[in-house]
Amino acid sequence: MHRNLATTRGCDKIFLTNMSREHMICSKCGEGFEPQEKIVNSTGQLWHQQCFVCAQCFREFRDGVFYEFDGRKYCEHDFHVLFAPCCNRCHQSYER
Ligand SMILES: [Zn+2]
Ligand SMILES: [Zn+2]
Repeated sequence: MHRNLATTRGCDKIFLTNMSREHMICSKCGEGFEPQEKIVNSTGQLWHQQCFVCAQCFREFRDGVFYEFDGRKYCEHDFHVLFAPCCNRCHQSYER
């Protein structure tokens, strides 16, 4: 008996969930998802909850708002600090 892919739990629903999740990988780390793990679905991509964080401060996005640059996601604060789209004068006082 081959049990190397997914361990059945004696429940068809859980097994089906495992089956469908086998083909899903996290957009960031490329790992699969645990059956009970929360999956973040954003812009057609899937993420672990702990992977769907700001590339700079590694915090979750407030209200799910993020800015993407060069394939990385940043929270609003870090995006402005790092890339300051228009002018640096507005951002003289850096929050910690
Ligand atoms: Zn991940
Ligand atoms: Zn951040």
